[in-house]
Amino acid sequence: MTDAGSDSSDGLHRDTRLVVRGRPAHVPGAPLSEPITLASTFVADGTFEYGRWGNPTWTAFEDVVGALEHGLALAFSSGMAAVSAAIDVATTRAGRGDRSTLVVPDQAYSGTVTLLGDRGRPVDIADTEAVLSLVADNADEIAALWIESPTNPGLQVADIPALCAGARDLGVMTVVDNTFATPLGQQPLDHGADVVVHSATKLLSGHSDVLLGVAVTSDDELFAALDTHRRLRGATPSPFDAFLATRGLRTLAVRRDRASENAYLLAERLADHPAVAHVRYPGLVSDPGHQRASRLLDGFGTIVCVEFAGGPAAADALCGAVRLWVPATSLGGVESTLERRRRWPAESPNVDESLVRLSVGIENVEDLWADLDQALIATR
Ligand SMILES: *Cc1c(COP(=O)(O)O)cnc(C)c1O
Repeated sequence: MTDAGSDSSDGLHRDTRLVVRGRPAHVPGAPLSEPITLASTFVADGTFEYGRWGNPTWTAFEDVVGALEHGLALAFSSGMAAVSAAIDVATTRAGRGDRSTLVVPDQAYSGTVTLLGDRGRPVDIADTEAVLSLVADNADEIAALWIESPTNPGLQVADIPALCAGARDLGVMTVVDNTFATPLGQQPLDHGADVVVHSATKLLSGHSDVLLGVAVTSDDELFAALDTHRRLRGATPSPFDAFLATRGLRTLAVRRDRASENAYLLAERLADHPAVAHVRYPGLVSDPGHQRASRLLDGFGTIVCVEFAGGPAAADALCGAVRLWVPATSLGGVESTLERRRRWPAESPNVDESLVRLSVGIENVEDLWADLDQALIATR
């Protein structure tokens, strides 16, 4: 399913880069994988000096992600650390303190929206005209257009090329949270985005055992600003987590293909199920984001959202009745998990109270369906 496109830099397809980048040089006796370097300090005058500034195990991870996103990557201690760094750098670049507002999707990741607080101007990110007129009408107070696509958890699909071009014309920088699509699904820097961020905790690492973030840019000044931010604020990852994330990246293409196939099948069956009021999955022809996703995204992703006529009680009943699926927050692991998002007070009120976000894993899809099918009885 992954169209592992290539570009001119090394002539390799993206799924090959996932496997071959971030490795030590092929010399006799060298390990195949970059080892975990536990060091707070390094002998002076080398590539690495102090552990808060850089570490070879981070560099391996950054090399793989940078090669996929077509930019230079910096690892952070979590997705939110990368998000915070991008917001701070955008605000500083915009200059005067009065340009501290960010336009943000009204169903974006709740952590980003909560962090922005009054500085966030929510908008339906799928409505390109509405986004760009909001930016145009307030350009003198806006530091950046924050894009998430597909959004978490609304699965709204943004027209990233149109939004980036429009914002650039208005002198406003763009940041894309690419966590859901992964760099196999889309490469926003190629469409004019200034910075891409990821929660590498999710699909990139893929095994629910790492907290990690990453920011990527192809702009030297922005890279230097993000690097300085990381050095001074100190939101640095552990070498062990960076190692695990690189190891996870090796299988991203096959994990994502399998989980996306599973998600597609489950979305189709859920859409036909009498207990389910509404299914959101960009792969469904009936989905409002389907046409745009078909044009812009390589693969429809591993997340499916369902809403119930029976409201939050029906959603909670589903989460309580599953046996194979794990009721848990977060997403993007090899194991299938689900949760009712509005159980968190910070979740956007634009998200339906009954919405259950399913993070589809790589198990056999018939086992996943059988479990959902038996658990759906509890929702009636
Ligand atoms: C989880 C998530 C984040 C935050 O990442 P952490 O690694 O949990 O700090 C940011 N954006 C999106 C879209 C996410 O799903």
